Amino acid sequence: MVSRVIPVENFDLVIFGGTGDLARRKILPGLFRRYRSGQMPAEARIVGAARSALDHDAFRQMVAEAVAEFGGPEKDDAECLKAFLAQIHYVAVDAKGEGGWQALSGLMREGVVRAFYFSVAPSLFGDLAERLHRFNIATPDCRIVVEKPFGHDLATARALNATLATHFKETQIYRIDHYLGKETVQNLMAVRFGNILFEPLWNNHYVDHIQVTVAETVGVDGRGGYYDQSGAMRDMVQNHLMQLLCLIAMEPPSRFDADAVRDEKLKVIRALDPVAADEIVRGQYGSGGKAYRDDAENPASTTECFVAIKAHISNWRWAGVPFYLRTGKKMRARSSEIAVVFKDLGHSIFEGDTARHRNILAIRLQPNEGMDLQVTIKEPGPGGMRLVDVPLDMTFAEALGPDAGEVHDAYERLIMDVIRGNQTLFMRGDEVEAAWAWTDPIISGWDARGDRPRPYEAGSAGPEEAMMLMHRDGRRWREIKG
Ligand code: NAD
Repeated sequence: MVSRVIPVENFDLVIFGGTGDLARRKILPGLFRRYRSGQMPAEARIVGAARSALDHDAFRQMVAEAVAEFGGPEKDDAECLKAFLAQIHYVAVDAKGEGGWQALSGLMREGVVRAFYFSVAPSLFGDLAERLHRFNIATPDCRIVVEKPFGHDLATARALNATLATHFKETQIYRIDHYLGKETVQNLMAVRFGNILFEPLWNNHYVDHIQVTVAETVGVDGRGGYYDQSGAMRDMVQNHLMQLLCLIAMEPPSRFDADAVRDEKLKVIRALDPVAADEIVRGQYGSGGKAYRDDAENPASTTECFVAIKAHISNWRWAGVPFYLRTGKKMRARSSEIAVVFKDLGHSIFEGDTARHRNILAIRLQPNEGMDLQVTIKEPGPGGMRLVDVPLDMTFAEALGPDAGEVHDAYERLIMDVIRGNQTLFMRGDEVEAAWAWTDPIISGWDARGDRPRPYEAGSAGPEEAMMLMHRDGRRWREIKG
């Protein structure tokens, strides 16, 4: 199959926090893979900038180790790695001081795209932005990439937006949510808006409900101190789950461009009803095995590491269709999926067939990114009209050739979008604020009521109350399968 990789233009990318965990696990190995695929120009320059006093070679060694550990199957291409490392530089920079900034300025070239990845704590964003200007490193069309968490609540998100807006235009700011970089999330948009088949059914006449599950098997893994200040609502729902909800529920944008898509997503968030206290369940693993409180090293913690919500979108398309969202740590399996569950047939002509057949479009984000459509067919062979539900694979790796199965990590795809100047898969400032405006009252409601998370067993599907959230509506969660 002919390679579909479209090279991006030449660039200088500075990674502030280049020695940190995110840079080592995701950003640097991802860039190596893009380099190896030919998408990144051979002359592109990557500059690590962090607090540690390293020289270029020591940083290159660190990058080589990161590629060896997290580079995937491509990591063994020694020749390519050598060429990639030759493009890597390092400057010790103090975000809060003056050290290193002149040296960084000296490494920047004219006439290439300039991008700055802020892979550091958000408390440093303002310092970095101010110094990039003071040392004449920022250009009018340079780009900055900022990581989650984007604020702790609406007030802090507004303050962060205001700080960034002092130094950069909105068109220069790329707020990353790596869920949007996933292949199947983009495929969801292709399926919705590239086919005539689905859109006529994508509404409250045909859809019974929608489920979004993001289940993790990991606990807080040494990040207990940070996580305990945050919880599942802030760490997962406000960003990742709400972004997925927007892409499922939004109206067709008039064009596939950044503002058209983000305008439609914003309308969805603004149409979300406030969540009633009995339509949300929060949980903490505790019974059976180690408890969350031990992992978080806070015996009195009331932070949730599981949340299940029944959400409602008040507009013509979705009135009456519940969106059930859930996410949790230490769950039965690592599994993320969106399931669009269509309504039952009003009438069956097949005598004796009493089973409830439902069409379900399942979009798997992990593991095994892919999509399938559950359809009802006749069970093959003799024995009359017996019906059976089978999944129609819509991943189509076979039809599109072997390369089609190659799924790039979300980070590397999004970084290439930054270089291209394409903001479609990044969150706009007003979207982030609207998402906080919906989540803030939920969290303050818990605080006001003294609500405590319900216990669940590590390795389960969450607290009993989360099951009841659906059972009482005559529905049930899909199985969490790894
Ligand atoms: P980390 O603690 O591992 O690394 C922090 C980096 O910032 C280091 O390179 C350090 O040298 C640099 N740094 C700290 N203070 C500095 C200063 N004053 N001047 C210059 N550099 C300084 O953090 P991380 O896990 O890599 O996370 C980075 C950011 O990405 C954070 O905002 C985090 O919330 C976010 N994030 C991380 C992950 C992840 O998987 N690690 C996932 C999503 C978002």
